[in-house]
Amino acid sequence: MNHLRLVLADQLSASLSALADLQAGDVVLMCEVMEEATYVRHHPKKIAFLFAAMRHFAAELTDKGYKVRYVTLTDPDNTGSLTTEVERAVKSLAVEQVVVTEPGEYRVRQMMQSWQKTLGVAVDIRPDDRFLSSTEQFARWASGKKQLRMEYFYREMRKAYRILIEPDGTPTGGQWNYDKDNRKPPAKSMVSPSRISHIKSAILEDVLKMVGKQFSSHFGTLEPFHFAVTRQQTLLELDDFIVRILPHFGDYQDAMVKGEAFLNHSLLSSYINAGLLLPLEICRKVEAAYRNNRVPLNAAEGFIRQILGWREYVRGIYWLKMPGYAELNFFEATHPLPDFYWGGKTGMACIGEAVAHTREHAYSHHIQRLMVTGNFALIAGLDVKRVQDWYLSVYSDAYEWVEMPNTLGMALFGDGGVLGSKPYAASGKYIDKMSNYCAGCRYDPQEMTGPTACPFNALYWDFFARNRQKLEANQRLPFVYSTWDKFSPDKQSGIKDQARSIFKRMDEGTL
Ligand SMILES: Cc1cc2nc3c(=O)[nH]c(=O)nc-3n(C[C@H](O)[C@H](O)[C@H](O)COP(=O)(O)OP(=O)(O)OC[C@H]3O[C@@H](n4cnc5c(N)ncnc54)[C@H](O)[C@@H]3O)c2cc1C
Ligand code: SF4
Repeated sequence: MNHLRLVLADQLSASLSALADLQAGDVVLMCEVMEEATYVRHHPKKIAFLFAAMRHFAAELTDKGYKVRYVTLTDPDNTGSLTTEVERAVKSLAVEQVVVTEPGEYRVRQMMQSWQKTLGVAVDIRPDDRFLSSTEQFARWASGKKQLRMEYFYREMRKAYRILIEPDGTPTGGQWNYDKDNRKPPAKSMVSPSRISHIKSAILEDVLKMVGKQFSSHFGTLEPFHFAVTRQQTLLELDDFIVRILPHFGDYQDAMVKGEAFLNHSLLSSYINAGLLLPLEICRKVEAAYRNNRVPLNAAEGFIRQILGWREYVRGIYWLKMPGYAELNFFEATHPLPDFYWGGKTGMACIGEAVAHTREHAYSHHIQRLMVTGNFALIAGLDVKRVQDWYLSVYSDAYEWVEMPNTLGMALFGDGGVLGSKPYAASGKYIDKMSNYCAGCRYDPQEMTGPTACPFNALYWDFFARNRQKLEANQRLPFVYSTWDKFSPDKQSGIKDQARSIFKRMDEGTL
């Protein structure tokens, strides 16, 4: 029986379940389709990274002797969608079964589940065992729990995979979590370490030309292009990160520095999410570096927690809560997304910086995503769907399974507390403490009202005042409302007037 093995853009792993038991006569189908490249207007760097990585992956399979049907975006016969390309292949190759690995998006899973009926061919949807917790395992862990806290899930994962666990079952170093050592403000004159670069292959050059032509109207710059696009190149990135950069990862994980997009972050998320690097191999290598005294424990544990903990946890939440999760909007936030998210002018240096990094690199680091652009969207009550579309389109590592829980759940508290126990709302003082942005800003993080007051300050209080009914009972916000109530009526109305003026300036494009 001949099979059609479909490999999606984020499934570039030799160990993919859809490629297990590949037989002579089977055909691997890979296609670049306009529908997937444009259902949100993805950053050109993300499209180029994925198409180049796909073409290299297909070439590696061909070199190994497998039959690959690769449909490029500009192929005149390309019908433009996954479903129609699978249909075309099924008809022209006369296959009896389509084999796929479950996708990362609910929308695509629905599409796949319809194929058996609409295409009249058997469809085998296999679990994605590159993740370390299956959706069933996560559902079992979540079952009966009132609160789904990442920390407890993470401990279970550490035990299950025996990562940073001593022979007696206790966590290495005696603690599960060294996060308190990882929140240092930026050191003076902190700069990002240099990064390795890769020689551009002919495949990549072709893709860059094509993406430059086809997607020039999308937000973001295509060149300079720094991404690794093969498994071998991503392994070099991983090893280089572990040796040179990881030792400093923990200490300044939350710091933000003007002009420095990467600092000590790994930049590995795009590679892991596309399947070029596997989460377990990364965790094992990082643990080995700690055991060989090359990396301190706070850095190794902090990094492993992001991958073994956060990454698996958000995926678990996504599949546990979809499809209803996508419709949640706890604060009923509907304010239109201001132009400055798309590079429009703003006097807010922190937002300008995060958006500039995003435009140039299809990347900004976690704290910029959470505490700058995410925090602003939360306290300004920006439309949750538009905010999610923004995150999904502008970052090279964005797929709905990971973007949605991070944006809707973590940054916007739009799920009402499924993922986080309280909103990550912060005033300008937090940004001032964790960055050097405010020194060069038109606004002053110490001022609450007036034309030069930092907009984050009044919006922060206005957010809590606006949403009092929904948040007052939250036990993790003990001082917010008692502090607000101690403000004089004049101070309270001054803050509300200031917030109104901020919204007006935001809508006029003068904030
Ligand atoms: C609003 C918002 C949206 C986000 N959208 C995405 C997204 O679309 N795709 C994505 O991969 N991450 C997303 N994140 C999580 C995180 O910001 C990125 O994984 C990280 O910035 C990627 O950069 P890095 O590889 O240098 O990470 P590092 O700081 O070096 O962290 C190491 C690795 O840990 C994993 N990781 C860390 N935090 C998370 C997290 N919260 N969720 C999942 N994995 C995590 C990633 O694989 C990352 O490569 C989002 C966070 C926020 C607050
Ligand atoms: S003063 Fe406010 S707006 Fe300006 S950089 Fe600081 S936090 Fe951002």
